[in-house]
Amino acid sequence: MSSLELPAGAFSIEHLTPEFFASPGFLALRSLAGSPRPFRTIHAGRSGFRAYARTLSAAGRAYILVVLQSRHPQQELLQDIRSTFLLIIPIALLLAGLGGYFLARKSLSPVAAMASKARTIGAANLHDRLGVSNPRDELGQLAISFNELLDRLEDSFERQRRFIADASHELRTPAAILRGEAEVTLSRPERTPSEYREALTILRDESQRLARIIEDLFTLTRADAGQYPITSRDFYLDELAADVLRHARSLALVKNITLTPLTEAELLFHGDEALLRRLLLNLLDNAIKYTPAGGTVTLECKKSSGQYIVSVTDTGPGIPPELQPHIFERFFRADKVRSRPETDGGGAGLGLSIARWIAEAHHGRLELARSNASGSTFSVTLPAL
Ligand code: ADP
Repeated sequence: MSSLELPAGAFSIEHLTPEFFASPGFLALRSLAGSPRPFRTIHAGRSGFRAYARTLSAAGRAYILVVLQSRHPQQELLQDIRSTFLLIIPIALLLAGLGGYFLARKSLSPVAAMASKARTIGAANLHDRLGVSNPRDELGQLAISFNELLDRLEDSFERQRRFIADASHELRTPAAILRGEAEVTLSRPERTPSEYREALTILRDESQRLARIIEDLFTLTRADAGQYPITSRDFYLDELAADVLRHARSLALVKNITLTPLTEAELLFHGDEALLRRLLLNLLDNAIKYTPAGGTVTLECKKSSGQYIVSVTDTGPGIPPELQPHIFERFFRADKVRSRPETDGGGAGLGLSIARWIAEAHHGRLELARSNASGSTFSVTLPAL
């Protein structure tokens, strides 16, 4: 026990009676005097005391020294502090709450403004941007990132819009030809077999053209979405080139164009054979299409500095320098710019875009290596095994 119970006023002089000295409190003080830790709290009256007791001996007599200090001043101080806290803490909490609410509202108001602005941005006003009040703070950075996202979205929207507009334009022409040809043929009740044959030939050619454009559009849409399945396996590029040349031979024969193979042997490649075939056919098809009768088209495959280089060279009229930067763009046709009719069997201007995508899908590239009045060379570079 570190405390004692004594009656109130136990230490006033008149209480130092024989009863007091016989009381359990006094006996406890006496034992305190002999203990190694002679301090104790005494509960007496309202505040109590801190007591210190020691046994002293003088002139052969033993005395007990008892020092008592009232705890009243400390109790009062504690009481004051308690009352102050009881008053101040609720006020401080209230003020802190209000201040926090005010600060939170003030610092989050730009977020609310951004949110309401973002809610108004849609396909019709995709060019709108969020206001950036302070580009250096976190909210400014958020607004800048959001605006950059809108830039990318707007760009992709614009490309999609242009793609759809160009695609519909390209599809409209063969569809109109199909309908017109059928209407003209059916406008008279009777036609000669040769007239029917001629009409059907036109219908067949245009429907083939239509099917090719649709197939190309489908390829590009899937390629853009990263959904074109690429099935890679090992095959020899030189064998593929020889096979493609064989297929292109009939096209070249019609125009009396000489097809020259120039291929090294054993060019082992890992990739999608069907896509690579399509790439080479696109290039050969263009070379034959744009080379006048009697010309030459050369397909060369070789290995150089750890890369395969496949090039298609023709003796056509070349591509004007100002149009060269555009030939890989979708729907771009130099002939259209030069007002050549669309019914001459030309494509929709998608062949080179697809060919370039195929090269890039195989970690390679397709470039126009040379083009002048004596012909053009398209060159595909692919990583060698
Ligand atoms: P297209 O279906 O019109 O051939 P491409 O994307 O294959 O579309 O080619 C785009 C354009 O590039 C063609 O319209 C043509 O004007 C030009 N071009 C492509 N290859 C050749 C070539 N070998 N010689 C001349 N011009 C070419």
